[in-house]
Amino acid sequence: MRNLWVHITGPDRPGILGHFLEGVAQLDLEITDLEQVSVGDRLILAVGVRAPSEIGIAHSGLTELGNELGLAVELRDEVRETRGQDTVDLVVTVLGEPLQAKSLAQVGHTLGRFDANIRRVETLARRRLHCVEMLASANPKTRRELSRALLAVAADHEVDISVQEEGLGRRAKRMVVMDVDSTLIQSEVIDELAAYAGVGDYVAGITARAMNGELDFQGALRERVALLKGLPESALAEVAKKLDYTQGARSLIKVLKGMDYKTAILSGGFTYFTDRFQAELGLDYAYANTLEVADGALTGRTTGPIVDGQRKKELVREIAAREGIRLDQVIVIGDGANDLPMMGIAGLGIAFNAKPRVREMAPHNINRKGLDSILFLLGIREEEIERMEAAGG
Ligand SMILES: [Mg+2]
Repeated sequence: MRNLWVHITGPDRPGILGHFLEGVAQLDLEITDLEQVSVGDRLILAVGVRAPSEIGIAHSGLTELGNELGLAVELRDEVRETRGQDTVDLVVTVLGEPLQAKSLAQVGHTLGRFDANIRRVETLARRRLHCVEMLASANPKTRRELSRALLAVAADHEVDISVQEEGLGRRAKRMVVMDVDSTLIQSEVIDELAAYAGVGDYVAGITARAMNGELDFQGALRERVALLKGLPESALAEVAKKLDYTQGARSLIKVLKGMDYKTAILSGGFTYFTDRFQAELGLDYAYANTLEVADGALTGRTTGPIVDGQRKKELVREIAAREGIRLDQVIVIGDGANDLPMMGIAGLGIAFNAKPRVREMAPHNINRKGLDSILFLLGIREEEIERMEAAGG
């Protein structure tokens, strides 16, 4: 007996697979493998078969079958794939607006330089932005260097490239945890409040440095909240009216909720706002700092434990444990230095339009306008997102 690949190509139409496999059955061939893709109006079908050593009858039978169906048929001896236990399957997701051939060429060259064999390429998005997903077998020993080289390509070509290990862990995500300011929403709430209190520029300067990891978070928060002392409570409602969700935020949440994900927001901002986002978006969990109010005005202090980077990390562990979800099933999205600790323990930690220092240290980076572009890292296709968006509820 010998193992063969039967490659069938030609114009696609319904019913081909059934017809062809029926022919294979009539020739008494045992099927060992089956792969098919349709691209545009063309079909590429590959059937692995075990055939008698003398394949004359099988060969003429299959060729005749192809002629009847108007398809080209080619038989080849199966070559054992070189990938074995010493390779790791990597999913390389490339996002760009647009994605140019020269960028993809550079990704291909880089994979080739590290002897990583590309086994599948799929386009996940081609309208609002471009996303191509590649599955490649790589040497685990050079995996880190390969990832670094791909990040350099991403920086040179102003595209996003994420490298994940393929496997059950990648597909079994069950919870998403998001930062709020500059992640779920477009602005930094404390800067908006400070503008109201007439100390906007000063506070915004501190916020920017704190989020870039240049200042101790707790100290920076206390200093800024103290400057809000005396601000009437009504200012909170005024500021809340001005806040806008990040583009794609609602869509991201809708799709993930549709996939039964648990959802959480963890914010170094304030509960007054996060409680509203939680209710409006139907999120499972929301944690933030509580502004102390006395006689209708802010006291310049917070009550309860401060939600800083460490606290965010603890909360991710707590919520995951309560829900019976493993940490490798958690996606964390944030933009600030105080989001890095929780990104570090998650299965998929993503820095979203992050501060420079955060970008360097984050496991994954997305620098696109839409928060829903994160869905492509999960292998979700643009059409699926649009279908979910269009569905009611
Ligand atoms: Mg933030």
